[in-house]
Amino acid sequence: MSSPVRIVFLGGLGEIGRNCFCLEVDDRILVVDCGIMFPESDMPGIDLVLPDFTYLRENADRVEAAFLTHAHEDHAGGLAFLLRDISFPIYGSALSLGLARNRIEEAGMLGRTEMIPLHDGERRMIGPFDCEFIPVTHSVPHAFATAYHTPAGTIMHSGDFKLDPTPVDGRKTDLSLMGAIAKRSGGVKLLLSDSTNACRPGFTPSESTVGDTLRTVFRDYPNQRLIVASFASHLHRVRQVAEAAVTAGRKIAFLGRSMVNNVALGREMGMLDVPVSSVIDIDEVPRYTPGEVCIICTGSQGEPMSALSLMAAHEHKHVKISSDDVVVISAHAIPGNEINVTRIIDSLHRAGAEVLHGGSSPVHVSGHASQEELKMLLNIVQPEWFVPVHGEYTHMVHHARLAEQVGVPKDHVLIAEDGDMLTLVLQDDGTTSIDIDRRAVPSGFLYVDGIVGDVGQGVLRDRRNLAEEGLVVVIVTVDSTTGEVVTGPEIVTRGWVYAPEAEDLLEDAKAAVLASLREATDEGATDFDTLRRHARRSPGKFINERTKRRPAVIPVVMEV
Ligand SMILES: [Zn+2]
Ligand SMILES: [Zn+2]
Repeated sequence: MSSPVRIVFLGGLGEIGRNCFCLEVDDRILVVDCGIMFPESDMPGIDLVLPDFTYLRENADRVEAAFLTHAHEDHAGGLAFLLRDISFPIYGSALSLGLARNRIEEAGMLGRTEMIPLHDGERRMIGPFDCEFIPVTHSVPHAFATAYHTPAGTIMHSGDFKLDPTPVDGRKTDLSLMGAIAKRSGGVKLLLSDSTNACRPGFTPSESTVGDTLRTVFRDYPNQRLIVASFASHLHRVRQVAEAAVTAGRKIAFLGRSMVNNVALGREMGMLDVPVSSVIDIDEVPRYTPGEVCIICTGSQGEPMSALSLMAAHEHKHVKISSDDVVVISAHAIPGNEINVTRIIDSLHRAGAEVLHGGSSPVHVSGHASQEELKMLLNIVQPEWFVPVHGEYTHMVHHARLAEQVGVPKDHVLIAEDGDMLTLVLQDDGTTSIDIDRRAVPSGFLYVDGIVGDVGQGVLRDRRNLAEEGLVVVIVTVDSTTGEVVTGPEIVTRGWVYAPEAEDLLEDAKAAVLASLREATDEGATDFDTLRRHARRSPGKFINERTKRRPAVIPVVMEV
């Protein structure tokens, strides 16, 4: 038997976002991806959600390095936070590192890491980790799947991928390399694969199809200004928009800080070939007629302060959206952002623009494999074991079923969740055993509000209660010897009823408090705690009876 190899899932199994797992060989840890999750609507005031780093902090001396499969925020956004606690080198494709660098630099953490670029098809050792980096197509260029050749056999991780037969840059998912690895002696013991689109039948369309749609859009609206919002990291999308614009003879203005940065990076790396003569600054846009210009910008997630939102609200310095504009939202809403996206589409329509978005026009395709592609990968890799990753629980269940359909034995398909630990051991007969230890490490959500401050579950529960039910403060002064009410009660409320319109209700509430306090003193209670309890319970009961609500009641009892 070999020495055990471990995989510890810190995030991404059970939610879309904060993807992160630890691979452990010879007691060393390779952190594979370290992402954030966008807050959902029931997380008031939260900026982003991180994986729980307790396990990594407690084992900091064992961390060899981090490896970035690609630079999306749900894979790379947490690195700047983890680097505060632990210093380690980061490996990834040159583009992934370039894209991830900004956030790390902004956080002042660049000095705590070293960035080491990897090449397509390269096989190299990172400490005790024998890794092979396999090109895959996704909604950001230069993403990797990875084969880890470990003492327990080969583990393959798909990363985020699709099987795009006609990618914009010609760099296809290297199925032949995956097949070759599967055919080597021992084969692939475990496949971890992207479950995002496991519920979606068929094949995900090629990125190139969006280029066709975009060219049609430019032809259909020759006299209107075209504003295309996309993810700044989706350089293939940006490239296709830019090419369609140049073909249509338009000038291009890039807008939004990350768009400008990433376009500069893409041009530097030779991935984005836009003629200098076609690019103008955003402040030059008003000098051109609408039909002469295309703006490529961020804001596809409806971020309230993005350029697109400001343009829609007529608060942008140089561009105001009107009926001269066609806005193309060339992206889908990430879970958590749906409401904001609906809102921006609404305000664009209100400003008079024509809006084309994924729901109305094929201006976006997914970067993740659908069912037929997932099955194809399973068939090529033929893993001994299968664990679906990267998805909500439902996605992983569907993915598990696909694996069973193509012949992975049911007892070799494991649905793991955040916090679970897999232990892989190569047996004497050449097979690999996998034990799963459920909830082995802390894996809760780490809520970030502001720059660092991590907000606990309790704070979030309070915020939710306050948001849903409001707050009532009861202020009363009592005589310290007799317990009799001297002044008050006064009732101050936020979010329960609007005070000026509910005078009567508030008077009734005061009377209820007063009656309850009198009752207490009549029974001989003069102690502070009893009075305080009455000052809290009586309005709570009254409010619930009269309005069926349960605001937080805070009694302020003062003694004189
Ligand atoms: Zn991704
Ligand atoms: Zn992802």
